[in-house]
Amino acid sequence: MRRKTAQRDAIKEAFLIKNRPLSIEEILETGRKTVESLNQTTVYRNLKLLVEEGWLRIIYHPEAGTLYERAEKEHHHLFHCRSCDRLFELPGCALREKESAPPGFVTERHEVFLFGVCSSCRQV
Ligand SMILES: [Zn+2]
Ligand SMILES: [Zn+2]
Repeated sequence: MRRKTAQRDAIKEAFLIKNRPLSIEEILETGRKTVESLNQTTVYRNLKLLVEEGWLRIIYHPEAGTLYERAEKEHHHLFHCRSCDRLFELPGCALREKESAPPGFVTERHEVFLFGVCSSCRQV
């Protein structure tokens, strides 16, 4: 039981350290620094539970694939770097959601993805 909690804590910690959306590979890589035995099956199982509990939410990104981020975060948009394949959070929202849809339409939510090259990749 203690081992299970340690693995789960290592996954949570990965999100707190990185503070951005993470792919399975990144979660494994970061989590293994804390719990060496962490494997893909365990990570998948824990991610499913953390989503069910409302600690994480799933992002389906058209290029980066399936990623996870902390559910408590305020609404924000995401920037995908095509060079390092990472997702970055862009604080705030410049979209006027209600005015963007035609009259008579009811908007419930939106997602915005920006694509390009991040600052650290540009410098290389
Ligand atoms: Zn980059
Ligand atoms: Zn927005």
